Amino acid sequence: MNNFFSILFQLACLFFLVEPAFGQKTITIGIFTDNQYCNCPVTGVRNYPASLEKLDSVIRFFNTSDVDAIFHLGDVIDHDFANYDSVIPRYRKSAIPVNFVMGNHDYAVKASQKSKVLPMLGITDLFYTRAIGNWKFIVLNGDDLSFLAPQDKKRKQERNALLTGLISGLRNNFLPWNGGISMAQMNWFERELQEAQKTGMNVIVLCHFPVYPKSSYNLWNDLELLAILRQYPCVKAYFNGHYHPGNYGVDNGVHYINFRGMVNTVETAYALVTITSDSILIHGFGREPDRRLKIKSDE
Ligand SMILES: [Zn+2]
Repeated sequence: MNNFFSILFQLACLFFLVEPAFGQKTITIGIFTDNQYCNCPVTGVRNYPASLEKLDSVIRFFNTSDVDAIFHLGDVIDHDFANYDSVIPRYRKSAIPVNFVMGNHDYAVKASQKSKVLPMLGITDLFYTRAIGNWKFIVLNGDDLSFLAPQDKKRKQERNALLTGLISGLRNNFLPWNGGISMAQMNWFERELQEAQKTGMNVIVLCHFPVYPKSSYNLWNDLELLAILRQYPCVKAYFNGHYHPGNYGVDNGVHYINFRGMVNTVETAYALVTITSDSILIHGFGREPDRRLKIKSDE
């Protein structure tokens, strides 16, 4: 073998060592949540004014980090539609588009301005999927049933029935700043999981609201969603925001990671999530902790 072919051969061997199997390349995702900017004073632990600099800083960081995708897990603003004017130009500085997951505060605007929220964010689909390598990211809309997001008659009926069930079942997460998922979206979600299971894709679910561990901040239909998640071995992790102090739990081998709210304190919080063939490695910045999580195998 001459020199050229010898080098080519060694490079090929190296490639196959690094890439254990086709489609299982290491991927890196940028995650942050609850930037929740508002042109208002510091309120308790929420440092609203600091959110703009934190947003500039995280976008600059992801622009130099070679990420495959970026997700903001909900609550872009708080209190006033005018706050979108301050944050949207900053999101546009991202080298790749930020995928928005809808949160309750995203609709914290006057009733007459609610229909302007999605065009402002450039969103057409409220729940959607992104495929990267052999991973499928399924984004859920936890504001599908809500007291803040616009509701048609059918949704209002579904919301009220769900809340009546929560109250009579003594479930403590019926609070008005949480939200729920409609039957139509649940059916879509199950079809996406069946498809992933059939095609050998791994799944990470993203939603603004937590579903595990049990908490008063959880999605209204947390138990119903958990029952579905437990049926599909392709589901490996669930990422959410909403509860700003953050949280973590593992159920049936699935990692439930509540990322910390960026708006809290002067210190930022965000993460680079690297997914290898067997682990989810979370490199936290600011208040977000590092985590090394083993991916459960398909049983
Ligand atoms: Zn929230």
